[in-house]
Amino acid sequence: MVQADKSSGRTESFLENVRMTGPGQYLPDPTEGITRVEDLPEPRRVERSRNYPRRRCPQCGHSAYRNRTFTRTLHDLGDLAANRPSDLVITCSQHRCSRCGKYFNADLADLAAPNSHYTRRVVSLAVRLVVEDGLPYRSASWHLWRDHRVFVPFATVQNWVEAGGKKGR
Ligand SMILES: [Zn+2]
Repeated sequence: MVQADKSSGRTESFLENVRMTGPGQYLPDPTEGITRVEDLPEPRRVERSRNYPRRRCPQCGHSAYRNRTFTRTLHDLGDLAANRPSDLVITCSQHRCSRCGKYFNADLADLAAPNSHYTRRVVSLAVRLVVEDGLPYRSASWHLWRDHRVFVPFATVQNWVEAGGKKGR
């Protein structure tokens, strides 16, 4: 949480800069030109729980007790009104099946793909910007930040599009 301390003061001036002063008036995005993630405003943390005492084993169907808990952070669509990114911080349970020995985690598949740092809705929005709207990867990345307050490096957008489209496997 070193980053949080550094940027908390910055968030205030950041908000003042974008306060509307008149209808339709053009105000440049105060974050335009920022290239370092650590200079962006601190994310709002939204806590969620997927923490269960028991879950059904995906391998043998046995009801498996919780082994431990851990947290997973997912970058979500941001909070445009507050001008901040938004992170889902999910407390998850890991389970160990006493019958077959399998370790598995509480299901998050509805929220995010395995090993992804972003929610599914961020990924699908990014892919739509490129595939449907024809934006180049860098423009899509900028659009995601400017209009949705989620920072996605353009190479990541490219990976998503290529994994989902004809260019991918
Ligand atoms: Zn099992």
